[in-house]
Amino acid sequence: MPEFDFLPVFAPGWVWLAGAGPGDPALLTLGVHSALQQADIVVHDALVGGDILRFAKPGALLEYVGKRGGRPSCRQADITERLIQLARAGKRVLRLKGGDPFMFGRGGEEALELSRAGIPFRVLPGVTAGIGGLAYGGLPATHREVNSAVTFLTGHDAGGDVPDGLDWQAIARGAPVLVIYMGVRHFAGIAARLIEAGRPAGQPVAIVTNATLPSQKVFETTIAGAAEVIGREGIKAPAMIVVGDIVRLRADLDWMGRFVVPAGETTAVASRHIG
Ligand code: SAH
Repeated sequence: MPEFDFLPVFAPGWVWLAGAGPGDPALLTLGVHSALQQADIVVHDALVGGDILRFAKPGALLEYVGKRGGRPSCRQADITERLIQLARAGKRVLRLKGGDPFMFGRGGEEALELSRAGIPFRVLPGVTAGIGGLAYGGLPATHREVNSAVTFLTGHDAGGDVPDGLDWQAIARGAPVLVIYMGVRHFAGIAARLIEAGRPAGQPVAIVTNATLPSQKVFETTIAGAAEVIGREGIKAPAMIVVGDIVRLRADLDWMGRFVVPAGETTAVASRHIG
């Protein structure tokens, strides 16, 4: 049974489609933590690390269907087929994805297939890298004096190229802040399109890799300079790229870089001392 009475009971034959957040286990919701403790099988992606999977109940099966780590990638159709098969076998199936399942996570596609197959499912949102991950880099997605709109976009399309289906003119002229998922590989092409569409080449850019994890790094550059930084520093996925003047706030808001947590104390206690 779940720990608190507001948490749902995971019934056999159901699929729960959940987001584990960007990496720090502290960002798991109570709902997802409870789901991990009730699931018979956890079908997870590469971005869900061992620090999170250790909350699964003893004896639960952990099944990796991710697309990284040198293992052959699973086809999306095979993943949904597997979820349906496990649910029909009466398992409590937790489909666990990095971040939020409905943010560039193909959660919608999986939910549609479950719906068509008549499998009962529930969605448990998670903290998305484009908001929570940025916060760990001292980057608010919005700030009143800087932007009252933000655009979330993906840096590669289903075929793995720069998404040319996007209206780059509209993107460049639209929201003052762009938050780009999966953008590292093709950033040179993205930068060229943004500059061509009128975005200043010198506008600040921040790249946050492994956001919220102990290995997190943040690089500050510009639209025109970012591709060179990515190459020189060997920056790889997972990384979030933020474009816009919001990046300037990092000078004051990089709480991780500024405040050293005293040994043996929690972050919450430390920030109270600093005041
Ligand atoms: N559903 C996820 C996104 C999946 S797409 C979410 O809501 O966050 C995968 C992309 O997400 C990565 O290529 C990267 O751009 C971003 N991402 C996910 N976790 C990240 C992390 N810890 N640090 C930086 N980027 C991350």
